[in-house]
Amino acid sequence: MNKFFYALIFIIILGCKSTIEKSVKTIEITKDQVKSSLEYLALDELEGRSTGSKGIEKAAIYIENLFKENNIKPYFETYRDSFNVKDVIGYNVVGFIEGNDSDLKNEFVILGAHYDHIGRAKTVDGDSIANGANDDASGTVAVLEWAKYFSKTKNNKRSILFTLFSAEEMGLKGSGHLSERLKNANLDLYTMINFEMIGVPRAENEIMAYISGHDLSNMAKKLNTYTNTEIVGFLPQAKSYELFKRSDNFPFYNQFGIPAHAISTFDFTNFDYYHHVDDEADKMDFNHMTSFMNKMIPALEGMINTPEKEIKMNYE
Ligand SMILES: [Zn+2]
Repeated sequence: MNKFFYALIFIIILGCKSTIEKSVKTIEITKDQVKSSLEYLALDELEGRSTGSKGIEKAAIYIENLFKENNIKPYFETYRDSFNVKDVIGYNVVGFIEGNDSDLKNEFVILGAHYDHIGRAKTVDGDSIANGANDDASGTVAVLEWAKYFSKTKNNKRSILFTLFSAEEMGLKGSGHLSERLKNANLDLYTMINFEMIGVPRAENEIMAYISGHDLSNMAKKLNTYTNTEIVGFLPQAKSYELFKRSDNFPFYNQFGIPAHAISTFDFTNFDYYHHVDDEADKMDFNHMTSFMNKMIPALEGMINTPEKEIKMNYE
């Protein structure tokens, strides 16, 4: 073979490489998408998204439409998983992307966040609507962006449920209902991650995010291995305030006994508006949010695609 042949091969290889790099680039999550979804969910018109309100109904429709437009199927007959709480009906919204491996698709990973909030709060300067931008429109948008990402890349051997919970603020009612329903259906659930308040960054010398129930499983360690960087760490307050039990991951741990944790970037020093009317879109850091979502992708892909269930409870 002559040198022209080698030159040709070299050019072909270069060509392939740049095509791969290009295709990876085009499916990066962009700040514009993140911003526009978050700004919608935190509008005054959505009245603080309290369960059973007209405002949260708009949020539910927004989520359903986004699923539809991106070819993400409902897991149940419709996108809605309904339940009663006190005298109102709550709706979790559940999207589904089937795994691409004939065996592993029977195993599920849940990525979730709550899209409800508290409605109204103490009036400040004439504003009484608690918009819940950080809590938890931010986590909701992250789950929606990853749903779009996986619907485009199809890079998931295991099946994924994208679950947006209602009535978290009424005592984890939506996640309580859905976890029980899936347990009764004998779902083979591998792991669950709940994203809570990822709208503002931690200090620069801190690890980007932390996980609740850090020592209960090896999830943090494994996610960091998959990303090849320390993206998820330990926060002492998460342990002292028992955050593990205080959000939508907990019912899944309770029902299934599997690694089910919350990941957050709110560390009690970087945001003053928890359950406050000023928890609004203009307080969010969209560069941080977008960067967090993109950095988490290798962690999620690692978890979703390993041949074995590597993430385990520590007592096993
Ligand atoms: Zn929350």
